Amino acid sequence: MAMKINEECINCAACEPECPNEAITEGDEIYVIDPERCTECVGHSEEPECVAVCPVDDCIIKDPQHEETKEQLQAKYDKLHG
Ligand code: SF4
Ligand code: SF4
Repeated sequence: MAMKINEECINCAACEPECPNEAITEGDEIYVIDPERCTECVGHSEEPECVAVCPVDDCIIKDPQHEETKEQLQAKYDKLHG
């Protein structure tokens, strides 16, 4: 599953540089994650880096609209990183 930033976001920008896939950008209201680029950090690290640095609890959550297996996430990562 790709991760998703919810309305709790305080626009602190801490997550953006931590993403190995450049999936996070500043949106109109809050920061946003591109589900085409988010791999839950599969291929890079054990835990989502964005969640680790976000100061707001439960601000970055799994997006049930983008259900994917670990294998699919790894394939996405491999494609992004050639
Ligand atoms: Fe980027 Fe990893 Fe967060 Fe997905 S979980 S947005 S890949 S830092
Ligand atoms: Fe928003 Fe959390 Fe990212 Fe800060 S680290 S911009 S609060 S999602």
